[in-house]
Parts: sequence; C-alpha cells; structure tokens
Amino acid sequence: MRIVMLGAPGAGKGTQAKKIAEKYGIPHISTGDIFRANIKEGTALGRKAKEYMDQGLLVPDELTCDLVVDRISQPDAENGYVLDGFPRTIPQAEALTKALSARNEKIDYAIDVTVPDDNIIKRMSGRRACLKCGATYHLVYNPPKKEGICDTCGAELVLRDDDKPETVQKRLNVYHAQTQPLIDYYTKQGVLFSVDGTQDIDKVFADIIAKLG
Ligand code: ADP
Ligand code: ADP
Ligand code: ZN
Repeated sequence: MRIVMLGAPGAGKGTQAKKIAEKYGIPHISTGDIFRANIKEGTALGRKAKEYMDQGLLVPDELTCDLVVDRISQPDAENGYVLDGFPRTIPQAEALTKALSARNEKIDYAIDVTVPDDNIIKRMSGRRACLKCGATYHLVYNPPKKEGICDTCGAELVLRDDDKPETVQKRLNVYHAQTQPLIDYYTKQGVLFSVDGTQDIDKVFADIIAKLG
C-alpha cells in the first residue's frame, strides 16, 4: 500500500503516519525527519535545507525529489510506505508520479487531514518533537509518559525552531500557496480522501482505517 499524507503543517500527518506504518508494517518516510537528521549530522544537505526550514520556506525541489525517489527504491519500501511531508509542490508530485509509473506503480491513497488554520496555530506551540526517532508529542493532547522524554527512544524532547508562532503563520501561507493544489491533483487521480483532523488522535486514526480497509 503506497500512501501520501496531505494536510497543513501541524494537522497531524506525522502522528497518523506513524500509526498507519505500524499497523500495516510499512515504513514511515518523512522528508522533514530526513532533513532534520541531516541538520543534526551537519551534512551539506542539512546545511542547505536549514536555510529554508528556519524561514518557514520549502526546501527546493532539486534537493528533495531525488532523495525521496532513492528512499522509496530501498528494499524495505517494496510493499509500500507512508510518505509524510512529500510531495509538497506540484512539481514534486509530478516527479513522484513519473518515478512510480516507470515501474508500473502508483499511489493508492492520498489522505488529506483537515484542520483550520486558527486551530493549527494553537496546536503548534504545544508540539514537542524527538529529533532522534521522529516521534511527536503534545503537552496537552498527547503528552509523553515522562515529561520532556521520548517514550519510544528515551531522547530529550524539543520545541522545533520552526514551530514559533511567526514561522508557523509563514508555513501556513506556504502550505496554502504551494501544497494545497495537491488536493486537486490527487482528487483527479481518484485516490484522495479527507478526514476531520480536529477529532482526537484515535478517532482520526479509526476514520483512516475505515477507508484503508
Ligand atoms: P510539519 O510537521 O510542520 O508538516 P515537516 O517536518 O514535514 O513539517 O517539514 C519541516 C520543514 O522541512 C518544512 O517547513 C520545509 O522547510 C522542509 N520540508 C519538508 N518536506 C519538504 C518537501 N517535501 N519539500 C520541501 N521542503 C520540505
Ligand atoms: P504534522 O506532521 O502534520 O506537522 P504532527 O503529527 O506533528 O503534525 O502533529 C502536530 C501537533 O499536534 C503535535 O504536537 C501532535 O502531538 C498534535 N496532534 C496530532 N494530532 C492531534 C489531534 N488529532 N488532536 C490534537 N492534537 C494532535
Ligand atoms: Zn524518540
């Protein structure tokens, strides 16, 4: 099963992608996590990506597309994957469609997690992230068992540099301008469904499972 997660920053894509990946035994592939891992390791890609990420802008397609095409060609992605945070632009979606059709494959589902902007702004200030394993938590809605520590891997949780309110507003603007058109793109491919992301985490997941079967 090949799945793409769509939705604004903070809509809950990562939270749901992890649960889907676990249930179906397929990898969760997050471009944001890949960039953050590169920043942490101080790679050339990480240094370039950080310039854009800190400003709430998208990393250029040239730095993003090949990376994802390589990743989905790995053996563990043979039976499917959940793409989280990619594609984010029409050219990225076209590059993905092209790479897949070269192997007679296609995206089976695009899941749009919908949450209004004002709700997102409130949510983001409470997000805490694990930069080691990519898990995310929320101070109120999804707290870790031990304050400030990742349940999964024990690393320290942080407030991401780009989760400050001014940057969140910028990322929302970028989302509406560059990423929202993908809803049309995948609707035309006949694979899109939407879920109400304002419900609690388990209810959103139940709605997704009901559609995936
Ligand atoms: P969020 O959890 O808010 O949706 P991500 O972790 O997916 O954020 O992405 C964080 C940042 O990484 C983005 O604001 C952007 O700068 C960069 N990024 C992630 N994925 C992509 C992509 N597919 N194309 C361009 N930039 C990306
Ligand atoms: P995205 O990957 O779309 O940027 P995340 O999955 O990181 O979003 O979720 C953003 C923040 O909102 C996190 O702090 C997360 O714990 C919290 N969150 C996710 N889903 C819900 C939900 N259904 N209700 C309330 N908070 C949520
Ligand atoms: Zn962790």
